[in-house]
Amino acid sequence: MNARPKKSFGQHFLHEKRYIDRIVSSISPKDGDTLVEIGPGEGAMTLPLLAVAKRMTAIELDTDLIPGLQQRAAAIGDLRIVHSDVLKVDFGALAAELGAERLRIAGNLPYYISSPILFHCVEHAAAIQDMHFMLQKEVVDRMAAEPGSKVYGRLSVMLQLACRVTPLFTVPPGAFRPPPKVDSAVVRLVPLPVDQRPAGDPAKIHAVVKAAFAMRRKTLANTLKGMIDEATIRAVGIDPRARAETLAPTDFVKLANVM
Ligand code: SAM
Repeated sequence: MNARPKKSFGQHFLHEKRYIDRIVSSISPKDGDTLVEIGPGEGAMTLPLLAVAKRMTAIELDTDLIPGLQQRAAAIGDLRIVHSDVLKVDFGALAAELGAERLRIAGNLPYYISSPILFHCVEHAAAIQDMHFMLQKEVVDRMAAEPGSKVYGRLSVMLQLACRVTPLFTVPPGAFRPPPKVDSAVVRLVPLPVDQRPAGDPAKIHAVVKAAFAMRRKTLANTLKGMIDEATIRAVGIDPRARAETLAPTDFVKLANVM
């Protein structure tokens, strides 16, 4: 225990029991769930989750943390630690390997790659039942933001097209060792059933959303110039003089489908 936290791995270890308990009860693990934790660290969340689930998998990049965690887990349950960068893990293949239809994923995420991890999970949404993540509060605010909000943007649209996003509670810096500079928050993401996900080519949706938010103060006619002309934007019922921040997530799918 008490390894020196490594900044390069985004290590901030959670130590306040009441927040650990709140996370575990939000996840509410059940016998038979296939739990996967991203970045178990010293096991603050792993050990209490394992005590209920009895069997789980954790993905950790820092080799130095693995033997200690494995040892502490041995008396509690069956913990399988995958030594890997989570961005290289194919969750569909992992679910198949674990004999699960879908995974329940959790993690106090390393903040330096939180957005890439979120996008990676969205790509594998079909293999995921739900996700509970600790992130910077500011990122959770952006994920859950609605059109018209100052922080509504690419992350809000891409996540809300794939998942139901529910912010749960805030966690102060003092709950971690060392304390991060910002407040954190726990969020629940539940992938939408396939028939509720608007149909569109993900690469095109990404391209439209990225272009539309590249210059927030400009109109769609301007930001989408060269991709979709004004008449076509109008033909799908969207005002070309509107700005990206006023559009609903599904409007971007309409635009991607006429690109
Ligand atoms: N879950 C622990 C806790 O709550 O105390 C540790 C959380 S710490 C914020 C982030 C963890 O993610 C660290 O254990 C770190 O080594 C690990 N990590 C960092 N980058 C990673 C990556 N690319 N793939 C998997 N784990 C990573």
